[in-house]
Amino acid sequence: MSTHIYDLVIVGGGINGCGIARDAAGRGLNVLLVEQDDLASATSSWSSKLIHGGLRYLEQYEFRLVRESLQEREVLLKIAPHIIEPLEFILPHEGSMRPAWLLRLGLFLYDHIGGKTSLPGSRGVTFPDRQYSAGLKPSLRRGFLYSDARVDDSRLTVLNALSAREHGAEVRTRTRVTAGKRAAGLWQIKLCNVDSSEVDTVSARGVVNAAGPWVKSFLDDSVHVPIRATVKLVKGSHIVVPRVHDGQHAYILQNDDKRVAFIIPFEEKFSLIGTTDVNVASVDKGHQISKEEITYLLRAANRFLAKPLVESDVAWTYTGVRPLYDDGAANPSEITRDYVLKTDHQDGKLPLLSIFGGKITTYRRLAEHALDELRPYYPQLSGSWTAGEALPGGDMDSMRDTVSDMLKKHASLPIDYLTSLVRRHGSLTGKVLKGVRSMADLGELFGAGAALLSEREIDYCIREEWARMPDDILWRRTKCGLHMDAAEQARAAEFIQSRVAILRKST
Ligand SMILES: Cc1cc2nc3c(=O)[nH]c(=O)nc-3n(C[C@H](O)[C@H](O)[C@H](O)COP(=O)(O)OP(=O)(O)OC[C@H]3O[C@@H](n4cnc5c(N)ncnc54)[C@H](O)[C@@H]3O)c2cc1C
Repeated sequence: MSTHIYDLVIVGGGINGCGIARDAAGRGLNVLLVEQDDLASATSSWSSKLIHGGLRYLEQYEFRLVRESLQEREVLLKIAPHIIEPLEFILPHEGSMRPAWLLRLGLFLYDHIGGKTSLPGSRGVTFPDRQYSAGLKPSLRRGFLYSDARVDDSRLTVLNALSAREHGAEVRTRTRVTAGKRAAGLWQIKLCNVDSSEVDTVSARGVVNAAGPWVKSFLDDSVHVPIRATVKLVKGSHIVVPRVHDGQHAYILQNDDKRVAFIIPFEEKFSLIGTTDVNVASVDKGHQISKEEITYLLRAANRFLAKPLVESDVAWTYTGVRPLYDDGAANPSEITRDYVLKTDHQDGKLPLLSIFGGKITTYRRLAEHALDELRPYYPQLSGSWTAGEALPGGDMDSMRDTVSDMLKKHASLPIDYLTSLVRRHGSLTGKVLKGVRSMADLGELFGAGAALLSEREIDYCIREEWARMPDDILWRRTKCGLHMDAAEQARAAEFIQSRVAILRKST
């Protein structure tokens, strides 16, 4: 048992746990973040990857959520410009859909409700303009254009953990919190390393339950604290197909069940189509896309696409479970996407703060609200700061300048490769490539082209970013897995495992 006393133990290394760890550590708290698998291994890597206000939430009168999300879009574009970028959306429109006046009103609100924005406002477009109707059926004659942003969700999570560590937090991945109780004036938290089965107990003055879809089971089964709130588990799936349209914009498509689907350019050669809303009884039931969901997404896209997609076009799928706050809505699409924080304490001490709901987009504000809730227990807390400090790698002027700077330093490396590295690591690319003069210095290479994964980057992700398993690198620190064939994936996986084995022997 460790004798060290943490101010705060945070359970869960998704976006919310990592965001709170960053904020709390930067305000002077001594923080331990514990994740049972990899950072962002659950819902935080299975999102639609949008930093958005959520146009459709206006229909549900979620004005607070939309306002906060749009304000956050501005903040996040500034603090993480390497992994978050503006994205134009086209909303095709015809008579059978929501009336044009309603869409115009919604978009007017969307343009203004968040206050000043750096992104262009919405406008109507007509489709003789092929730029904005690429890939669509020629019968579609008009639509609307508006702005939002896209994010690399798993990297956003890792960058928050990196920043938390820079501010003094300790981060333990592949470690499960198995139990916790208040005893002798402190929280006693039991941890189990999932690889070695070693157990440890740590003490803390407070606990944050950021276990995402496991928020309620953690309360019921691990700490036995009854809280009057429930989580609604809603599965959402995406399919990835070869790119369906030229151009950098995304489509938002109105489906005939009143839901919307997105088609988003993804990883240069692909399109990401999502998503679904399916109630599930447990997290285990939410890991895999069903045949019905694939059919649903193909149909939603094909209502608009000139060249219909078929099931064999699907190159990859992913599925996650939304941990939504149960507000009583029966339709899973109508359950609030806003977050709710619940705090339990013992005689005004030893808080346990649990997080229900939330979005990637609002994680930073959620963290600020969490620290407001915790303030009575930690009078030493300093003020909010995370809006003003770039996330690791985000302190760069522009993508173009950073890539050309890298090109000057590493002239023999292909520009496409340098660009994809800068998209992942921003200004930290120099650290990844320290001492690299030629391709040979990158070590063994896996995959090809812009999706090249090098021994050098693998070592960096293991050393600096907690990567321990092949999927951590192939699908979360990078998306290189998507561009590799099965043999390339297998070779990369074998290499990653051998590197981690060496690391384990040496520690
Ligand atoms: C299909 C879909 C699309 C979405 N699209 C968007 C979008 O475009 N934009 C947006 O803003 N939001 C989107 N979201 C919402 C967003 O992804 C989630 O709200 C967010 O990722 C939740 O983060 P979290 O940290 O609460 O949970 P998670 O990411 O699930 O993290 C919880 C972590 O806790 C860990 N954990 C659990 N129990 C323990 C334990 N006992 N010990 C240690 N660790 C534990 C888990 O392993 C997990 O990593 C989407 C969600 C889904 C499912």
